[in-house]
Amino acid sequence: GPVSDMPTLGTRFADELPEMGVAWRAAVPPKPELIVLNETLAVELGLDPEWLRTEAGVRFLCGLELPDGAKPVAQGYSGHQFGGYSPRLGDGRALLLGEIGDRDLHLKGSGRTPFARGGDGLAAVGPMLREYLISEAMHAFGIPTTRSLAVVRTGQMIVRENLAPGAILVRVAASHLRVGSFQFARASGDVDLLRRLADHAVSRHYPGVDPLGLLRGVIEAQAELVGRWMLVGFIHGVMNTDNMTISGETIDYGPCAFMDAFDPATVFSSIDEGGRYAYGHQPAIAQWNLARLAEALLPLIDDDQETAIEKATAELAGFRARYVSVTLDGFRAKLGLSVAVDDATVTALTEDLLALLKAQEADFTSFFRSLAKEEAPAEFGDWVKRWKALDPNVAAMNSVNPVYIPRNHLVEEALSAATDGDVIPFRELLEMVTNPFTEIPGQDRFATPAPPGSGVYQTFC
Ligand code: AMP
Ligand code: MG
Ligand code: MG
Repeated sequence: GPVSDMPTLGTRFADELPEMGVAWRAAVPPKPELIVLNETLAVELGLDPEWLRTEAGVRFLCGLELPDGAKPVAQGYSGHQFGGYSPRLGDGRALLLGEIGDRDLHLKGSGRTPFARGGDGLAAVGPMLREYLISEAMHAFGIPTTRSLAVVRTGQMIVRENLAPGAILVRVAASHLRVGSFQFARASGDVDLLRRLADHAVSRHYPGVDPLGLLRGVIEAQAELVGRWMLVGFIHGVMNTDNMTISGETIDYGPCAFMDAFDPATVFSSIDEGGRYAYGHQPAIAQWNLARLAEALLPLIDDDQETAIEKATAELAGFRARYVSVTLDGFRAKLGLSVAVDDATVTALTEDLLALLKAQEADFTSFFRSLAKEEAPAEFGDWVKRWKALDPNVAAMNSVNPVYIPRNHLVEEALSAATDGDVIPFRELLEMVTNPFTEIPGQDRFATPAPPGSGVYQTFC
C-alpha cells in the first residue's frame, strides 16, 4: 500500500558517481504551501497523497525533511548552450533528492548551489506551473517526458522583471542524466569516471548494451522523441546539450510552446534570436547534440580512436532513418491511413499537406480534427480528394490528434492568474490538456488558437 510517511530514497547516483555532483541541502522556504499535487503520480510512486498534503508531507516535498540515509546532491554537467561550450553548468537551482524505485525525485527552485554562478537559485510560480502543465500534457499525449509531482509556493518574493512569488517544482524522471553529463565526465579526463557513468546509464536505461549500444540507444530514443514533438507542433526552445536526456524523456520546460499556425521557422523564445531552435531545426539540432554525446563516449567505444570515430559516425547516420520512420508512421496515423497505403504515397501526401498548411497559415492542431469531421477549409479541396481516395479511417484519427493542447494565450492567462493567487484557470486548463483527445461540448475556447490581434507570443526562461 501507499507510504503514509517518509518514503525511502535511493542513493545510487550519489554512491556510484560522487564526482558528478556536490552533496547539498535545499534552502528553507519561509512559508511553504502546496499549489498543486499530482495524486495519480504520487500513487504510482507508492506515496500517499493525503500524507503529502500534511505539513510533514509538504516539508518532504521541499526537501526540508528527508528520510535517514538520504544523500541529496546538486548534479554537475557541462553543456553546449546555443552552440557555445560551457564546461561547468550543473544544478544551479536544483537538487536530486534521491531515487524512488527506479526514478529520480528532484527539486527545481530549491536555492543556490555551488553551480549557481550569478543565479539566485530560485524559481517563480509561473514558470514552475508552466513546466507542470506542459510536462503533464506531454505525458497525456503519450510522449516520453519528465513528470511533475507538485509545485509548492515558498512564501518568498523573488526578483524577476517584476517581483514574483517563488516556487519549487518537484520533478520525477527516469534519470537526470544528460548529454551534458557525459561531456562533464569526458572533460574531467578521468576515463574510469566516464566508464562508471556509462555503466550507470546502461543499467538504468539500456540494460545489457556496450558503450556503442548506449550511443545507439540514445540516438534511437531521441530520434523518436523529436519526431513525436514534431507531430504535435511542440517547440522545446532550448535544445542545449544539457537539456537533452540519455533516457529519451523530454526535459526542461523553459521557453517551450506549441506552434499554432504551421510554419517551420516558428520560434517563441525571447533568447533564441537566430532561430537556432526553431520548430523545423529541431531534428538537425538533436543530431548535432548526439554528435557531442558520441565525442564524449569515444574513449569507451574503441581503444583505437580512429576506429571509434568510424563506429560512432555510422551510428549517428542512423538518426535520420529512424526520425523519418517515426514521422512517417506518425503522419500515417494522423491522417488515418492504413499500412496498406505505401510509404511513398503517405510521404508525398504529407509533404503537400505541410506546404498547404504553411501557405494557408492553418492551425496545425485543429486542422487534423477538422479533417476527421470532413470540415477542412475549401483551399484544401484538391488535397482532401486525394486523401479520401485512400480510404482513411477517420474514427481512428481522433485518438492520435489532440483537440486540446496548451494554447499559448491560455497558458499565459492561467499562469498570470496563479501568480496573483487564483489557481482555478490553471486547474481548468490542466484538466483539458491532460485529457487531450476527447472533445467536450461547449469548451471551444480551449480548442482554438488565440483570437487575431492577440499579438506575437514570446516565452522567457
Ligand atoms: P537552463 O537553460 O534552464 O537549462 O539552465 C542553464 C543553467 O543555468 C543550469 O545550469 C541551471 O541550473 C542554471 N540556472 C538557471 N536559472 C538559475 C537560477 N535562477 N539560479 C541558479 N542557476 C540557474
Ligand atoms: Mg536545463
Ligand atoms: Mg531551464
